[in-house]
Amino acid sequence: MTTDTQLTMAEVLQTAEAKKVRRRLDFAYEPIPSFACFDDCSACCFNSAETSMIEFANILDHMKTLPDEQLNKVIRKTVLYEFLHLVTLDHKCPFLESGKCSVYEVRPLRCRFFGMYPDDEYMDQKNDSLEANEVLLKEYKEAGVKLPKEVVTYDIEQCDAARQGASPLLIPKTERELLEDRVYSLDSEVFGDPSEGMQSDRFTFLYVSSAMPDQNEMSRLRHSATNEFLESGTHEVLETMLSLGVFGLQK
Ligand code: SF4
Repeated sequence: MTTDTQLTMAEVLQTAEAKKVRRRLDFAYEPIPSFACFDDCSACCFNSAETSMIEFANILDHMKTLPDEQLNKVIRKTVLYEFLHLVTLDHKCPFLESGKCSVYEVRPLRCRFFGMYPDDEYMDQKNDSLEANEVLLKEYKEAGVKLPKEVVTYDIEQCDAARQGASPLLIPKTERELLEDRVYSLDSEVFGDPSEGMQSDRFTFLYVSSAMPDQNEMSRLRHSATNEFLESGTHEVLETMLSLGVFGLQK
């Protein structure tokens, strides 16, 4: 869910600490089975994963503990991904570091589920996402921006790691929805009435919009960054914003 009301990063961080979100989420994630990934496979970490608000707060709270150099690297990758992921395949999930998840202990539900979708459900999700991208392609075209076809048609293959061996780990939709409810219902418990500014979205979107709550300003930046990249392959406008500390995380 996305609304026009955006919490600032400081508000999200205060809530994370006051409401002990890590403890609540660890408990909610507990029944989700896990499996060993194939060595050095990070195929599912191509996109920035969707998070609920409490998951977003949990990851932000964890980011505060990172050493400055690593934190700055993650923030830079977050910003470049968010503003350029529709125009280039160069940027992946900002937490992917040398083929591994650098926030594995606080990774969101979507990452925990990956590989455990039955094939037909995975295909449905993939088709929905390709359809949504087709809509974006048209919207941008109408605004005079030609998004690269290879980016909007890119898709991630189903993961086979969970289905190795005699008992494949697949979670059918009904069970998944129960687990999702367990996590997503925490949003209203922790942040109050969901109609007042709650949203789930990709991590990178939530991050940049909590750092830059003025959505008009963000939209202008998105257009200038997209145009700059398509015209010259550079991202100076974003580098300038980063150097000014616009997207910094206040520890
Ligand atoms: S948060 Fe971690 S597991 Fe999830 S997509 Fe990013 S790197 Fe992969």
